[in-house]
Amino acid sequence: MDSVVKKIVIVGGGTAGWMTAACFAKALGTHFYDITLVESEEIGTVGVGEATIPAIIEFNNFLGIDENEFVRETNGTFKLGIEFVDWRQKGVTYFHPFGLYGFDIAGFTFPHYYFRHYIQRGGGPVDIGKYNAETEAASQGRFGRVKPEVGKPTVNYAYQFDASLYARFLRRYAETRGVVRQEGKIVQVHQNPETGYVTSVQLTDGRHVEGDIFIDCSGFRGLLIEETLKTGYIDWSRWLPMNRAAAVPCERVDVLTPFTRCTAREAGWQWRIPLQHRTGNGYVFCSDFISEDEAAATVLTRLDGKALADPKILRFVTGRRKKAWNKNVVALGLASGFLEPLESTSIHLVQSGAFKFLALFPRHGINPHIVDEYNRQVELDYENIKDFIIAHYKVTERDDTPFWRHVQQMSIPDSLQARFDVFRATSQTLAREPELFREVSWVAILTGQGMIPEDYHPAADALDDDDLRLQLGRWRSAVLERVKPLPLHEDYIRRNCASEALKMLYAG
Ligand code: FAD
Repeated sequence: MDSVVKKIVIVGGGTAGWMTAACFAKALGTHFYDITLVESEEIGTVGVGEATIPAIIEFNNFLGIDENEFVRETNGTFKLGIEFVDWRQKGVTYFHPFGLYGFDIAGFTFPHYYFRHYIQRGGGPVDIGKYNAETEAASQGRFGRVKPEVGKPTVNYAYQFDASLYARFLRRYAETRGVVRQEGKIVQVHQNPETGYVTSVQLTDGRHVEGDIFIDCSGFRGLLIEETLKTGYIDWSRWLPMNRAAAVPCERVDVLTPFTRCTAREAGWQWRIPLQHRTGNGYVFCSDFISEDEAAATVLTRLDGKALADPKILRFVTGRRKKAWNKNVVALGLASGFLEPLESTSIHLVQSGAFKFLALFPRHGINPHIVDEYNRQVELDYENIKDFIIAHYKVTERDDTPFWRHVQQMSIPDSLQARFDVFRATSQTLAREPELFREVSWVAILTGQGMIPEDYHPAADALDDDDLRLQLGRWRSAVLERVKPLPLHEDYIRRNCASEALKMLYAG
C-alpha cells in the first residue's frame, strides 16, 4: 500500500482546474488536505467553452452556489436545448431538448405512441417536439425556473456562460475555502525513479510544488499525463474528422434566445451561443475540406452582430487518453481528451470525472483496482458521447459538399450501427444507465437527422385510435399549459440576474 494521499496538486487554472479545485475544497476540505493549484498567466487558457448541459446544476448545487449570483457574474443565459439548422438537409431545422417527450403510459415511453401515430398518419415532417415543453418554450423565447407551488423546475435547463468568468468565479470560491494558488510556469516535472510517480513540479523561479497526487488540468498538451507519463492517445478522427475551430465573439442581438444554435456549414458546423453581453460563435471544421483562412473568413460573414475580435483558430484531435488516471496523475478537462463541442459535453466531462475521482478517492494510497475502475468509468463516458456525436454526421441526407459526402459514407463503430439497426426496426434507442444521452436525445437527433423508425412497441397498440388522439391532444395541451405562464427569457434575466454588462447595455 502506498502512503496516504494528503497533498493534492492541480496543474492548470482553466475551467477544468478551478472546477476541480472548487469541488475538492468542498468535498474534502482543506484542514486535512493541502490543495494547491498551479497556473501560468503567461500560457493562459483555451478561452472558449460557453454552453453546458443540465448536469451542471448539480455541480453548482453541490458547491452551494447561488444561481442568480452565478448567472450574473458569468454573463450567463439559460439554455433549453440545441437548435440544429441545415443538418438533415438545407432548410430543415430540429431541436434537441433537455426534457421528456409526453408522458409514459404503463411504463412505456411516449415516443412509441408518437411513432404509432406518425406511421398511421402516413409520415410527413416529424413534429414530436410539439409534445415537449422545452422545445415549445424555446420556440416562443420563454424561460422560467421554478413553479413556486411545486418547487420543481418548470422546464429543464442548463446555462450558457463565459467560461473564463466561471473559472474566475470558482477561483474566488476555492481560494476562500483554503485552496492555495501558485502562479508560475512549470518547466520541469520530477518523478520517483523507481515507480515513475510524479513527485513535484518545478516552476521557472526554481520553486518546487510537491504532491502525493496530481490532477492534470493543463489543457490539450497534457503536461503530466502525456508529456511526462506518455500515456498515449486514442484518435477518433476517422469518425469525427473535425480538427479546427475558428471562434469569434460578436455584438449581441436583440432577442436573447434560450438555446444554443448549431448550423451545418460546408465543411463542418457553426455554433451560436447568446450571452447577456455578447454572442459566442465558432466554425468547427475539418481542415481537409476548408483552409483555416477560408473558415475564419466564412465565420465572419455569418455573424448576427459586429465581430468583437479577430477569429481565433484552435486546433485539436478528437479522442481520449488511453488512461485518464495513470500512476499518481489524473487528467481532467482537455488534458484527458476532447470531443468537439457539438453537444456541449466537455465541461460536463470535467464535472463527471472530478466526482468519479472523489467517489473513489484513494485515501489509503493508490490501489490499481481503483485506478482501473476509474478508467473504466471514464472510458464508458467518452465512448457513449462519441457514438452520439458521430450519429449527427452519419445520419444525414446532405451530399452537397465533399465534406458531407465523406461523413455520410464513412464507416461507423459497430456499437452505433447496432443502435441504428434497432432504432430503425423498433423505435428502441438502447439508451440505458449510465449513458449521458438517453431516449429523448437519441430520438431527437436520429429523427431530426432523418432516421424514422418503421415500427414501435406493441404496447402502443393497446390504445384504440380515439384514445390515442385524445392522449396526444392532452399531452399537447399539457405542454402549452406549462409554457404559457413563462416570461420571455430576456425579461426573466433582467428581473433576476442581469449582469453589470447587460445593465450597461440597457443604460447605453
Ligand atoms: P485550458 O483552458 O487550456 O487550461 C489549461 C491551464 O493549464 C491554463 O491555466 C494554463 O495556464 C495551464 N498550464 C498549461 N501548461 C502549464 C505550465 N507549463 N505551467 C503552468 N500552467 C500551465 N466545453 C463545453 O462544455 N461547452 C462548449 O461550448 C465548449 N466549446 C468549446 C469550443 C472549442 C472550439 C474548444 C476547443 C473547446 C470547447 N469546450 C467546450 C471545451 C472547454 O473549453 C474546455 O473543456 C474547458 O475550457 C476546460 O479547459 P481546460 O481547463 O482543460 O484547459
